[in-house]
Amino acid sequence: MNLIFLGQQGSGKGTFAQYVSARKGLVQISAGDLLRAEVKAETDLGKKAKEIMNAGELVPDELVAELVEKKIEKEKSNGVILDGYPRTLTQAELLEKILSNHKLKINAVINFVISDETTFKRIGGRLTCTQCGKIYNKESNPPKEEGKCNSCGGEVVTRDDDTKQAIKKRLDVYRQQTKPLIDYYKEKGLLKEFDAKPALDELKPKFDELLKELE
Ligand code: AMP
Repeated sequence: MNLIFLGQQGSGKGTFAQYVSARKGLVQISAGDLLRAEVKAETDLGKKAKEIMNAGELVPDELVAELVEKKIEKEKSNGVILDGYPRTLTQAELLEKILSNHKLKINAVINFVISDETTFKRIGGRLTCTQCGKIYNKESNPPKEEGKCNSCGGEVVTRDDDTKQAIKKRLDVYRQQTKPLIDYYKEKGLLKEFDAKPALDELKPKFDELLKELE
């Protein structure tokens, strides 16, 4: 099974990608995590991406496509969850080519729906492991030991682009460039809406039902 997770910042795409990958063995491919790894390793791509990401803008389509295709090639036999990819119509078209190169198809596109108010609330408390990308929340789900990842022992921090100003910009970019993908995938008959506003514990059983429908 191959899935795309769509949704604005803080909607739970990453958290649920990690949940599904632990339960079903699908591999989470997060474009943001791939980019952050490049920034951390100070590669040429990472150097180009760093400022763009901190400002809350999108990294150029062709740079992201290259990273995502490499990762799809590596993980395709397990089934993948594309988390935060595609984010523009051009990327969606590039993805069609990548999928056809690798003889893959998308089974469903899940749109995680929340309000802007929920975005600000959730991202304001978000903490992320710099090593494995695991997501925490300062209040509702802190790491057992402050600043240290429960899974890999990596450093858990507030992301550089989780500031109020960058979130505002990222929401604007989402509305202008990513939201049109909802209609794009609706027309292809792939879209599933998921009300992602409730707390995580309440959402998990609902998400399990949705996954069952897709199997
Ligand atoms: P995320 O971890 O999904 O919140 O992404 C963090 C940042 O990485 C975004 O604000 C963009 O700057 C960049 N990014 C992530 N995914 C993409 C993408 N598909 N296309 C372009 N830039 C991306």
